[in-house]
Amino acid sequence: MIDFGYGITRSNRLNLDEADLSLARKMARREKSFATCIGCGTCTAGCTAGHFTAYNPRKIQLMILNGQTENLKEDLKKCMLCGRCQMLCPRGISLRSLWSKLYRALDDGRKTPAVTRDIF
Ligand code: SF4
Ligand code: SF4
Repeated sequence: MIDFGYGITRSNRLNLDEADLSLARKMARREKSFATCIGCGTCTAGCTAGHFTAYNPRKIQLMILNGQTENLKEDLKKCMLCGRCQMLCPRGISLRSLWSKLYRALDDGRKTPAVTRDIF
């Protein structure tokens, strides 16, 4: 594509060489089944929260893998931990465990309120 030096839309291109992939590495260590995702989107199609909001579990996983942690925690709060995605996942990924571990990972180094700790 010709680079005119300007654009009318924000570029979606990612530079993975410069991205902070520490969260992706952390999650790969904490939830081994995460590495077997094939990106099929079945979790998103069947997501309970996704029926009522713009929540998208597959997008959350892509954000982790791309080092896009901005607003990740806010998005994750929409998840009800119902486990429907996990039942539907063709790779048998422990998604409920992934969400709760992700929530904790995003909270690393911070004091977690008791209520949140009980839920996740
Ligand atoms: S259903 Fe499972 S394999 Fe498919 S995108 Fe979701 S987590 Fe990945
Ligand atoms: S556990 Fe969360 S991501 Fe999975 S189906 Fe329920 S609301 Fe959606």
